[in-house]
Amino acid sequence: MTVENYLAEHSSELEQQRNDVSLTRYTGRFAPSPTGPLHFGSLITAVASYCDAKAQHGKWLVRIEDTDIPRIYPGSESHILRCIDAFQFKPDAEIIFQKDRLELYEAVLQQLQQQDLVYACQCTRKMLGSDHIYAGTCRNLGLDFAEQAIRVKVSDQDIYFQDRLQGQQCSNLAQDLGDFVLKRRDGIINYQLAVVVDDYLQGITHVVRGADLLDNTARQIYLGQLLGYPRLNYMHLPLAMNAQGQKLSKQNLAQALDLTQASQLLQAAFTALNQPPITLDTPARMLLQGIQQWDASRIPVGTTLHGCYL
Ligand code: GLU
Repeated sequence: MTVENYLAEHSSELEQQRNDVSLTRYTGRFAPSPTGPLHFGSLITAVASYCDAKAQHGKWLVRIEDTDIPRIYPGSESHILRCIDAFQFKPDAEIIFQKDRLELYEAVLQQLQQQDLVYACQCTRKMLGSDHIYAGTCRNLGLDFAEQAIRVKVSDQDIYFQDRLQGQQCSNLAQDLGDFVLKRRDGIINYQLAVVVDDYLQGITHVVRGADLLDNTARQIYLGQLLGYPRLNYMHLPLAMNAQGQKLSKQNLAQALDLTQASQLLQAAFTALNQPPITLDTPARMLLQGIQQWDASRIPVGTTLHGCYL
């Protein structure tokens, strides 16, 4: 299927999304991967992305990033949905699931292939060496695309962007990373491709997410540039740490958000984001107050948050 076919088939749905979005200048999103239950760090991202969008009279969308099927953790998708409910977040459109959109990512890959911007790569992990910069070994081999990884050609260019919290950033993909994978040999669409395509099709204008994703941003800007998509506005939040000084993550078994403690957890999230005290009680009222008082300039500077050991 080509992008044109996909767009033709889904034209009314996409048109509707665009109309909804064009009424507002700000569309933000929360895009968790169901690789484990949501934890306090995820709540900080949800609260900040929600309040930042709503405080600017914008829209806030939820997208489940579930393309990496082998890494999906049983039950985490339903935990995410129950959290959205229990914390009383109100998404402005139906929640989308990336696993339902695989044809679309394939169509975009085909478009890149027609423009000679991607190539098949047969290198194994072992062949890549230890510096994590891909040398472009397969770039000019003209390998068949079937059952191979697909890499995008990067160019030797400095990519600058201004992050609202982390300041000016610069990365040169050719020097820092080399051509990167958009589709794995096992057929899994890489996060970088899916996120760029969906941010565009959902009309996202602002990305608010954890600072652990800061170094993915240049790749996403570059892909967006190749595809002719508009640039987004970025804010990367400092990360909540555990008592051992590690970032809260599914890998180091951060505690799942306890839905019976929604108000206390929301209170703690606003405190971690250094927002004015929340005096109201239920999650819905707390979020409303949080939006009214939202001041992104109060968020602690840096890439880690201390003193919120949850
Ligand atoms: N799905 C990613 C994660 O859970 C976040 C993607 C994004 O916000 O761009 O880490």
